[in-house]
Amino acid sequence: MIELHASPPGPDAPAPHDWRWQLRHAARTVAELERLFELTDDERQGALAAERGGFPLAITPYYASLASPSDPACPIRRQVVPRALEATTVPGDLADPLGEEAHTVAPELIRRYPDRALLLVTDHCAVFCRFCTRSRTVGSGAGARSLERLEPALRWLREHPEVREVIVSGGDPLALATPRLLAVLERLREIPSVEVLRLATRAPVVLPMRVDDELVAGLRRLHPLWVMTHFNHPRELTPESVAACARLADAGLPVMNQTVLLRGINDDAAVLAELFRGLVRARVRPYYLLHADVVRGTGHLRTPLARGIELMRELQGRLSGLALPRLVCDTPGGYGKVPLGPEVVVQRGPGSTTLRTWRGVDVEVIDPPT
Ligand code: SF4
Repeated sequence: MIELHASPPGPDAPAPHDWRWQLRHAARTVAELERLFELTDDERQGALAAERGGFPLAITPYYASLASPSDPACPIRRQVVPRALEATTVPGDLADPLGEEAHTVAPELIRRYPDRALLLVTDHCAVFCRFCTRSRTVGSGAGARSLERLEPALRWLREHPEVREVIVSGGDPLALATPRLLAVLERLREIPSVEVLRLATRAPVVLPMRVDDELVAGLRRLHPLWVMTHFNHPRELTPESVAACARLADAGLPVMNQTVLLRGINDDAAVLAELFRGLVRARVRPYYLLHADVVRGTGHLRTPLARGIELMRELQGRLSGLALPRLVCDTPGGYGKVPLGPEVVVQRGPGSTTLRTWRGVDVEVIDPPT
């Protein structure tokens, strides 16, 4: 699958199956992007803005190899190549759409729900997705957070035993060197009240060679640990990414997927059905279909809320329950996720409820006598 459109830079090529090589050779400048893609004026302007200090750009050679060099509408390319439209703000846009700053309880620790917290261990990623919820901070250059920097967050977790799950995120925690990542996870494991760890990463999608033996051997010692990944399009399900998911699943690590609904990229029932079925075959559970967060400068990538509901109506009943994720909107301001879907309750009466099935048939369900 790794077959580049243009030679990546650097004297030490080729070593494309090494994840460090992939990171070293990620395209980060307009000139590097021009070697991979026939850029439109809109893309060139967007890339120039990114290079001049906006939300940075980064595309691994592997992920670039999945994209069309000539078609700007390519769903892979649209996820990672900046556009001038990113400078446009539309009504509803927010720099911090999930109110994370208001919910920060210690440096790098965000708590928006009673029993969960989010620990940000780096601001770096293998690729920078143009719809990133955390584009206000991701790629800002601070890099991996030291254990000293994370100590107040660890102390806060020790003092708040009601938090049972910690989601380790960033940036992408798999941008960290394995010993460094494991050191953070081991510190979390030492906190008795933290029952479950989750690792939120796009590496299986954009840098699948990152899921190597050393990483998997380290992670499997830390059960229960769930891996939350982020496939958005069936073209991302390559032999390499499927093998990365298999290495995680073989080590007993449950892998769940969050897909972001993106305009012109995956807002199509056939595309989503192919993606969700492919994920199940790869032993990855489609968990959420997320209405895209209202991140500043992403209006051109978002769909109306009703589009996701229409898509769920098309998919329900046609996909098995295992393959069908839950559609959710993470509400602006950080008030939490709300599940969405086609209306199924058409009438409520004393002792009975009428439900609309996926076939469009209304069926009355009678309650037992009280
Ligand atoms: S990998 Fe995740 S954190 Fe990094 S840019 Fe993409 S969506 Fe944002």
